[in-house]
Amino acid sequence: MIVMQEDATPEQIQAIVDRVESAGCTAHLSKGELVTVIGAIGDREHVANLDLEGEPGVDHMVAISKPYKLASNQFRRNEPSVFDIAGRKVGGENFALIAGPCTVESREQLFTTARTVADAGVTMLRGGAYKPRTSPYSFQGLGQEGLRLLKEAKEEFGLPIVTEVMDARDIEAVAEVADVMQLGARNMQNYTLLTEIGRSGVPVLLKRGLSATIEEMLMASEYVLKEGNEKVMLCERGIRTYETGYRFTLDLLAVPALKSLTHLPVIVDPSHAAGRRDWVEPMSLAAAAAGADGIIVEVHNNPDKAICDGPQQIRTEDFADYAEKIRGVLDVVGKHVSTAVPA
Ligand code: PEP
Ligand code: MN
Repeated sequence: MIVMQEDATPEQIQAIVDRVESAGCTAHLSKGELVTVIGAIGDREHVANLDLEGEPGVDHMVAISKPYKLASNQFRRNEPSVFDIAGRKVGGENFALIAGPCTVESREQLFTTARTVADAGVTMLRGGAYKPRTSPYSFQGLGQEGLRLLKEAKEEFGLPIVTEVMDARDIEAVAEVADVMQLGARNMQNYTLLTEIGRSGVPVLLKRGLSATIEEMLMASEYVLKEGNEKVMLCERGIRTYETGYRFTLDLLAVPALKSLTHLPVIVDPSHAAGRRDWVEPMSLAAAAAGADGIIVEVHNNPDKAICDGPQQIRTEDFADYAEKIRGVLDVVGKHVSTAVPA
């Protein structure tokens, strides 16, 4: 990590980037409030040979000790990342409330649910068009038709869309609709997909693998960051333990633990861990209290008839009350639900 001086000129910064690249490394620029930091990523030996201390504009060099570099707090000098997604800020005091159905089932289902969550002032709308299902015989999502409906909903309600991509061959089509591409738990270590999503430049919601450690999740995020895609949100969605009393064990300690290691925003998905709607609200409040930068929660206009994950989806009629309670906790921790900044 090459830390530039506060008064380093753009030409000096460019000269260092050129030196890094001519040594066979990749340069990652990170402009902080005061200083610019250049991450030199590459072969250990090439990096070690970069002796840039004393070059014009360079303040000092620091070796990042963690196996993940661009995701590490060290790389951003302990400043949390705050980035913009379709006009909504995420990170810092800006809390992303992401809500919507598990999967897009029909125009009526999507629009009724979207209207409810939009009226409650959420940050983004979720909904899967491509669904990772445990059984190949279960509904796999509406695919292209689902994407088309999401696009319509985005126009109608003005909410950015979060939707999953499961296959690199779908990235182009998904990118036409998605403001955030969700990378599902089962794909957290699909390294070619991570790389391709990184190259797409579309912001990413990276879900924690069912049995992935925090470090493995950070290494997965590094695959996306390494491609120059800086907008990565990490998502704790429950891990597999010996407990069988609920779908997954929601590891809320991952929130402060991750925040001590990374500058990336941390989102919590209480729905897939709880598996039951009456457990979703308490875990959502706990997530907000634990310092999460957002929640992604499933909501449905008729969960009793939902094609998938019905029992865990919050009923539309209960959603405004749910969102109000979240706001109550956010007041305590000094955050607010991020919405569109008026032009
Ligand atoms: C989802 O969010 O719809 C989903 C399938 O989540 P996960 O990948 O965490 O199981
Ligand atoms: Mn689901």
